[in-house]
Amino acid sequence: MVPFLWWASPLTAQSFSAEICTWKDDRPAAVSITFDDASYTQYEYAYPILSKYHFKATFSLVGEWTKEEASYSAEPGMFQIKKMGWPQIRRLHQDGHEIASHGYRHQRYDRHLPIDTLAAQMKKNKTLIERHTGAPCYTIHYPYSFAWDETASAAQKAGFWFGRTGDDTDNSATPSNLWMLKSRAILNDTIPDLSAFKEWLEQARGKWLILMYHHLFPKGSKEMHILEYHKVRNTYSLYPETFDKQMQMLAQTGYWVAPIKTVGKYIIERQHTRLRTYRCIGRFIIKLKTDLGNEYDEPLTLRVKVPWPQVSVKINGKENVYANTQGTLLLEALPGSKIVIKKQ
Ligand SMILES: [Zn+2]
Repeated sequence: MVPFLWWASPLTAQSFSAEICTWKDDRPAAVSITFDDASYTQYEYAYPILSKYHFKATFSLVGEWTKEEASYSAEPGMFQIKKMGWPQIRRLHQDGHEIASHGYRHQRYDRHLPIDTLAAQMKKNKTLIERHTGAPCYTIHYPYSFAWDETASAAQKAGFWFGRTGDDTDNSATPSNLWMLKSRAILNDTIPDLSAFKEWLEQARGKWLILMYHHLFPKGSKEMHILEYHKVRNTYSLYPETFDKQMQMLAQTGYWVAPIKTVGKYIIERQHTRLRTYRCIGRFIIKLKTDLGNEYDEPLTLRVKVPWPQVSVKINGKENVYANTQGTLLLEALPGSKIVIKKQ
């Protein structure tokens, strides 16, 4: 359709616009809560706390540690920690949490191996997870957060979309390498303390913060005793009540909290979608042009300005009526969609 000429007057043109929000629901930042090693305490303590705040997280498992039932395991020479079994993993998956790979073995990937060999090693755990959950496994948390350029290339070759390392910082809104995502580790119950944790959150404004957790042992538990006895400083463990306080703090930020695959997909879609807008009498049309396929199923949030106080919005043929008292609408649509906004 050819836009009518009189809509080209500058004054009118200003009152129509559409753009893709950096983050879902136009939130000020994105945060992913991630767990390593599939410690049973994550299921026992973190899972209910996450549910309380309606957060979905990313849980990564080591293939050879994951059995039909919860069981004890460790690297040679380390004390054994109870790990989740497949029933707990499936429950988390069914509840909307992401299940990621943490290597079939809890060993650093050898960067000197040929990329194909490395990729085959990585693929083993991906295939295992997909067989048990019946869903694609998108994300790898490298064992010991140990990753080089070669590791990242191998992860991509193995079919992962995202890879998480350490680095103790956050990611920009458009990370340069999705297979080298940075994260901040919770080292023990007081590192970070609550004020440092708050600082992390404040610094993440506009960006993507990935938090890395391991175990949640209660005060007085056998495991905390062992760690204290051996004077382990970085226990990678915290008390469930500390985790609860951190989650409460996170909830208060109004940031978008979602698994790595969800935030990652949103970023890819945002980068691969261009808006084409058309105006004509009583109508504003937005097309989300993309080169992506339909496996990109995270709706993008659009900030749309139209001057009409009441509008009907048709997204791919499905119609809704909105009051538009602020002059700005937040709309959700998948890449490839067509949106028709009509004056009511
Ligand atoms: Zn680990």
